[in-house]
Amino acid sequence: MEKTHSTRKALAQGKLTVIAGPMFAGKTTKLLTLFSVLSNLNYSILCFKAEAKKVNGMGHTRSHDERPLPVIYISMDDPEKIFQYVGRDGIGKVIIDAVHFFPKDRFLAVVEKLLAQGIDVYVNGLIYDYRKQEFGATKTLMKMADECLELFSICVRCGGKAQHTERIAGGVSQSIGTTGPQKAAYIPVCATCHNIYQG
Ligand SMILES: [Zn+2]
Repeated sequence: MEKTHSTRKALAQGKLTVIAGPMFAGKTTKLLTLFSVLSNLNYSILCFKAEAKKVNGMGHTRSHDERPLPVIYISMDDPEKIFQYVGRDGIGKVIIDAVHFFPKDRFLAVVEKLLAQGIDVYVNGLIYDYRKQEFGATKTLMKMADECLELFSICVRCGGKAQHTERIAGGVSQSIGTTGPQKAAYIPVCATCHNIYQG
């Protein structure tokens, strides 16, 4: 018989961990390490990745050092789809890659609902888009987080600390990934060296 909410025990609130920073800072690598550690400890865990292109289903994402992470792709306009996978089979922990792509308010509601179900949530996201504007829910999630890890990269122009991601090709809409038919190219830069791509 399927469990219903009324038969479930009251659960403690889940914990939120946020990994944030520009591209090329090791965010996905950090998620991958968390995934390995949690899997080895036999936690029941699912990994999702927000995708700028229209795609849903299973696959692998790769960190820049090429280690694969098994993920379920979720189209960026459909964050609630996560609930189709979570809530069954006693999933206790959820990892979500590239959360900046999701619409801010809708994704915050998804995270709050997961936490309320007692699920620990680990997310990573860009803090800023290529125009140096706040990107999706990342910054708000950093403020909500039980644990927050802000990573940085190295500015390709001056060698300083890079907190931003500059677009160098690929059009001017906010959300363009680095794969798929419409793709963009990016470099890590510091705030001073950052040029806003004009298309
Ligand atoms: Zn610089």
